[in-house]
Amino acid sequence: MGRSTVPENAKGQPGLLQAALFGMCPHCADRTLFEGPAQIAAKCNACGAELAKHERGARLAGLLTIIVAALLITAAMALDEWLRPPLWVHAVVWAPLTVGAVLAALRLFKAASVYRGFDASN
Ligand SMILES: [Zn+2]
Repeated sequence: MGRSTVPENAKGQPGLLQAALFGMCPHCADRTLFEGPAQIAAKCNACGAELAKHERGARLAGLLTIIVAALLITAAMALDEWLRPPLWVHAVVWAPLTVGAVLAALRLFKAASVYRGFDASN
């Protein structure tokens, strides 16, 4: 776990993993950060804090998706080489795993982005 530039639990804020998992507002910690699976809400419904305007690095989010996809493809090829499972196993395993991994990565990335921007402006 890299503790880089995002201060965890600074100023009573939730930790970043927790924030990303539950979509917690950086201001009031209510679960209002996301309005879609990986879509930052424009404003917090509870405290009115501007959320989307603190989001940075939309292009990096695209790059992150590509990196996650590349890792999953590599893993799928390795699994295929190793176990040679029937094709339907790949479909059953990788479809939900891909959606889950991409959403998790995007939520974490976007939560970090908003929290950093929020910290910088408060
Ligand atoms: Zn709030």
